Amino acid sequence: MRGPAALAALVLVLAGVRAAPPPSSHVASGPAETTSTEAPATFRGHKVLRVVPSVGKQVLGLRQYLHDHPKVSPWLEPSAPGRPVDLQVGPADADALKEYLAQEGLVATEMIVDLGRMVEEEQRGMIDAKRSNIDFGWDTYHTLDEIYKWLQNLAQKYPKEVSLVEGGRTYEGRTIIGVKIKSTDQQAPIAFVEAGIHAREWITPATATFLINEILTREDGEFRSAVRAYEWHIFPVTNPDGYVYTHTTNRLWRKSRSKYSYFCSGADLNRNWPFHWREAGASAVPCSETYAGVRAESEPETKAMRHYLDSLIATRTVLVYVSLHSYSQLLMFPWGWTSELTKTHDDLNSVAELAVKAAAKRHGTQFKFGAISKAIYPASGSTLDYAYDKGVKYPMVFELRDDGTYGFLLPREQIRPAAEETVDAICTIASEAGKRK
Ligand SMILES: [Zn+2]
Repeated sequence: MRGPAALAALVLVLAGVRAAPPPSSHVASGPAETTSTEAPATFRGHKVLRVVPSVGKQVLGLRQYLHDHPKVSPWLEPSAPGRPVDLQVGPADADALKEYLAQEGLVATEMIVDLGRMVEEEQRGMIDAKRSNIDFGWDTYHTLDEIYKWLQNLAQKYPKEVSLVEGGRTYEGRTIIGVKIKSTDQQAPIAFVEAGIHAREWITPATATFLINEILTREDGEFRSAVRAYEWHIFPVTNPDGYVYTHTTNRLWRKSRSKYSYFCSGADLNRNWPFHWREAGASAVPCSETYAGVRAESEPETKAMRHYLDSLIATRTVLVYVSLHSYSQLLMFPWGWTSELTKTHDDLNSVAELAVKAAAKRHGTQFKFGAISKAIYPASGSTLDYAYDKGVKYPMVFELRDDGTYGFLLPREQIRPAAEETVDAICTIASEAGKRK
């Protein structure tokens, strides 16, 4: 789609976002952002505790504890000795958790003392920012509607370069909208970027929209020649149902919004892809944050984005694939499903090393890097492993800011610096991939 056709399509798409009925009678609320009937979660009295297990036995113990206590919600899952575990806990369960941690010799620090107040302050800040600045920008977080309207305006403003693309439909009937930014070279390889697959990681859609804006407006020659050598396909919000839900009802929602169990909704869309599905680091328990879904591709969002990516790969070279997540400040590459190294490990490792150097140069932020299974923990059914298996040479996944102060509630003052350093790193990945292809 290009120009006016794209625009007309978007108007229909936006209309569809509001009008389409949910496909399942289990869904209590329709797709519009304001019609949720569920009372918003306040997180009053909730804390986030950080512990750093020092031996494998403590890691396994924490995993078992989380399995047995689904009300304790991991922000960072137990992974390996020396790596932090962040646990959100409500007032009713805090004493029992603290007792367990003390028994296991784990020293807990209070990373977030009053989660309810932080969520409230974030909401207040967004309202204030919107009152004083009506334009779309990177000084505050935005709703799905605001992001989609901004993308629509871009297609209007840059009709020759930008067209809207559609990934497909979500469980609740929303459209997954992205942009295609053309290169002057018709045969240019493709760089694919997806963000927001985990709903609460708000810094990621913000960074993806910032990247789009930089590609279209940034003047410096080195940046332009690196990014203009690609055709970009960028989807800022690949889990729109979840993202809307974080704005209307539960700020800390991670998964999709499908309904398979009476008690718990959603699957982890980054554990649902059809490659070594649910073999490692993915849960069969519907209430788990890493629930892999009833089967590979059980989620319409996965199916839609997988089809989109497959059709690109079938016709063009997809050289770069970037997946944006938060938090922990990591840059990683396949494999996730196994601890074995890929055949191109050294090459991927050296690109990642250069990319994290580029990120650090901007604001001094330090990212660690490595293969997913080594840097954090095994995770199967992820977008990145799928893309690599399909022949994408440079798939990279970021865990953006921070490394354990605000976590998912990264203050809006940090949106710009976080996005700037990430775009620098992505630019390095693109330029290195171009040299090495
Ligand atoms: Zn994530």
